[in-house]
Amino acid sequence: MKDLLRHFLFVCLTGLGVLEADVRPNVIVIFTDDLGYGDLGCYGSPVIRTPHLDRMADEGVRFTDFYSAAEVCTPSRAALLTGRYPIRSGMCGTERRVLFPNSKGGLPPEEVTVAEALLEAGYATMQIGKWHLGIHEGSRPLEQGFERRFGVPYSNDMDAVPNLPKGAVGSPNPPEKGWNFPLLRDDEIIEQPVDQTTLTKRYTEEAVKFIREKKDGPFFLYLAHTFPHVPMFASPDFKGKSRAGIYGDAVEEIDWSVGEVLEALRKEGIAEKTLVIFTSDNGPWMVMNDQGGCAGPLRDGKGSTWEGGMRVPCLMWMPGKIKPAVSHATVNAMDVMPTALAMAGVPLPKDVVIDGVDLSSLLFEGKPLEDRPFFYYRGDRLYACRMGEWKAHFHTKGGFGPALKEESHDPPLLFHLGRDVSEERNVASKHPEVIERMREAVKSHQKDLVPGKPQL
Ligand code: MG
Repeated sequence: MKDLLRHFLFVCLTGLGVLEADVRPNVIVIFTDDLGYGDLGCYGSPVIRTPHLDRMADEGVRFTDFYSAAEVCTPSRAALLTGRYPIRSGMCGTERRVLFPNSKGGLPPEEVTVAEALLEAGYATMQIGKWHLGIHEGSRPLEQGFERRFGVPYSNDMDAVPNLPKGAVGSPNPPEKGWNFPLLRDDEIIEQPVDQTTLTKRYTEEAVKFIREKKDGPFFLYLAHTFPHVPMFASPDFKGKSRAGIYGDAVEEIDWSVGEVLEALRKEGIAEKTLVIFTSDNGPWMVMNDQGGCAGPLRDGKGSTWEGGMRVPCLMWMPGKIKPAVSHATVNAMDVMPTALAMAGVPLPKDVVIDGVDLSSLLFEGKPLEDRPFFYYRGDRLYACRMGEWKAHFHTKGGFGPALKEESHDPPLLFHLGRDVSEERNVASKHPEVIERMREAVKSHQKDLVPGKPQL
C-alpha cells in the first residue's frame, strides 16, 4: 500500500514536472570476503590504513555487534540475500558448508532474494564480484534477481592449476597464474584465468559506471569483493604499500574502492538517497597466518562460532538521513533484506519465514530494537545462542586446522559478552536461570523450523 502511494505521488509529481527522479532510495551492499573484526582503522587496526571507511564510519553508523549469519562464505551469502537462516534454504550442508566448482547445488530458484523483490518493484539491479551461490541453472545471478553481472563464480582459491606448489594459497607472493579462475560478464566468461591483481579495480570501475548510468534510480547494487580472501593479490598501486603486508595491501585497496563508490554518489548528488552497507561474509581465516587477518579482541575466526568467526565490521551510511553514531545493537546480515524492502516500500515475500528485521527505526530515528535471540549455526547444527549480553555455546569446534574436534557442552558454556568479549571466562555455574532462558529460546526457534534440502 505504501508502495502504491509512493508510486501515485511519483506519477503525480512527475506529471506536474515537479520531480524528475524516483523518490525511492537506492541500496548498495559492499560485501568483503574474510575481513576480520580488527582489520579496519575504525575498528582499531593499528597497522592497516582505511581513511575512506573511517570517514564512512564517522558519517554513518558503526555497529559493534553485527553478525554474519554463518561462519563461511556460501551460507553467509545465502542469508544476506534472502533474510533467512541458511538452514531454511538448505545452503549450509552438514560439515562441508561451501560450494566448490564441482558441487551440484546452488541457491534454490524458489528462494526470493532482495534483488528479485526490488527488481520486481522496478529497481535496476546489478551484481559485481564474487557470487558463490551456485553455477548451475536457476542459481546464477541473472536467475536470482540481477539484471546484470560482472564477477567471479566462487572463491579465488578454487580451480587451482595442476601442480600448484604447496603453500601457494597462503603465500605472500602467490603465483599469478596459479588458478584457472574465470571472470564473467553476465553469463559469458570474458577472461580465464583472470588477472587477479586487477579485480578490485575493475569491480570498482563497473560499480561507478553502474551508479552513473542509473543515477535517476532507484537501483540495487551488490558489490561483493574477492578479497581479502587468499590467495592475496593487489594492484601495483597498492602492492607493497601496507605495514600489514599483502593482506593489508588488499584491504587498503578495498578501502580505496569504497572511497570511489561514495565519491561517485556525492558527485551525482545521490548520496542522501542511497543507503550504503559495508560488511564482511565471515571472520578472518586464522590458519592463513600473515594472510589471515585479525579478529581484534574476539576469539577464533572464520569457520567457528566463537565471536571471531561471525562478528564482523559493519557500517551503514546515508548522509543527512542516518545520524552518525556507534551502535551496540545486536544486528545481523539477515536484517539487510527487510530493511532494504521497507525503505523501498516493497512487502516481504509471502508465506516465507524471514529471520531478519527492518532496521529503519534504529537507523533513521535512533530507536532501540526489540530484544531477540541470535543463533550461531555451523552447517546445519545450532552451536550457540546470544540473548542480550549472554552467549551460550552448546557445541564448539575450531574454525580450521588439523585437530578439529567437536565438543558438546551440557550445561552449555556461558559467557557475558559485555564483560568478557573474548569469551575466556565460562560462568555457566553461576547463572543457571540464564541458561534456562537460552534453552527455551532455542526450543522455540527449532519448534517450527523446516530445514531446506541440503544444496551442497
Ligand atoms: Mg569468506
